[in-house]
Amino acid sequence: MSDELRPATVAVHAGRGARAEGDPVNAPLVAAATFFGSRYARNEGTPTWEALEEAVGALEGGIAVAFASGMGAIAVVLEELPPGARVVVPRDGYTGTRALLGAREAAGKLEVARVDIADTAAVLAACAGADLLWVETPSNPLVAVAELDVLCEGAHAAGALVAVDSTLATPLLQRPLEQGADVVVHSATKFIGGHADLLMGIAITRDDALAEHLREGRRLLGTTPGALEAFLALRGLRTLPVRLERGQASAQALAERLAGHPEVAGVRYPGLPDDPGHERARRLMDGFGAVFSFEAAGGAAHADRVCANVEVLTHATSLGGVETLIERRSRYPLELVPEGLLRVSVGCEDVEDLWRDLERALAA
Ligand code: PLP
Repeated sequence: MSDELRPATVAVHAGRGARAEGDPVNAPLVAAATFFGSRYARNEGTPTWEALEEAVGALEGGIAVAFASGMGAIAVVLEELPPGARVVVPRDGYTGTRALLGAREAAGKLEVARVDIADTAAVLAACAGADLLWVETPSNPLVAVAELDVLCEGAHAAGALVAVDSTLATPLLQRPLEQGADVVVHSATKFIGGHADLLMGIAITRDDALAEHLREGRRLLGTTPGALEAFLALRGLRTLPVRLERGQASAQALAERLAGHPEVAGVRYPGLPDDPGHERARRLMDGFGAVFSFEAAGGAAHADRVCANVEVLTHATSLGGVETLIERRSRYPLELVPEGLLRVSVGCEDVEDLWRDLERALAA
């Protein structure tokens, strides 16, 4: 495929094979554990996983390896580290990643340095002697933006590899390998799948040896995707450009309106000009994404009331689907996340219906 194509076109076209007369236009669902001869799905993969890997790899500019879930991909990347490795990680960020790192640290397997990932100087200072810098940008749930290109350069100078969880950005808005990262992970459960009906993860690297290690990790740990999940994730990827365009435009409108609302104590969205991540996101990303967080002025009880009273938004965990989800992020220590924080992942509904619903729920 031509290198000239833009990401939205690549998302629609990549991973379809050679356009041979009579072949299906869509990569078919191949439900097979074993193949004639010696091929076995857990070892060599399946054509359905490969089609998704080819498409996401084309978007990110690397070699993609699909996993059973985002956590499956993250666990296999961390498995690469030698015993006692020092890892610099965001102080906030996705709960599962933080829990896994905490467990490895408690078991004496890793040394973990926790930093504010938006504070470039602090991150780079912590990278001295580190084996890996783990970045999540934008972060979940605070939607903070890291200075990724500067972090990659500094971490490499200190001898550390850089891994980036780019789930909130999607492969359309941010390509960390181009900014110097060694490996990128996505929870494909979110925007790539896009319909809250599957669990999958994917890791992408430009390094052949690392890609082979990731495949080996999948092989030995068995963190393999399901056939139907891979088929659906690729189908989801085909519409990611339009879903994201819609969700992002609505996220911008809602964030702007919430920022001026008397029942709201603050909004975190890099699309707002006064957001700390605004200039970085403009420089490093192709859009601000479809996820924002805001603080209900009345704290935890107010945030719970909003969740209980929405009728168009859906009160549920996760993000990245066609349905707008709202959730109170209450599993974080209070020094990291304010009590009344609500994360919103904006889907494809009409923005005016979403706004009326939010206004009503804030007043309830
Ligand atoms: N990374 C981020 C930023 C996430 O939000 C999540 C899930 O919420 C994950 C990773 C884990 O993905 P999965 O649920 O597919 O294992």
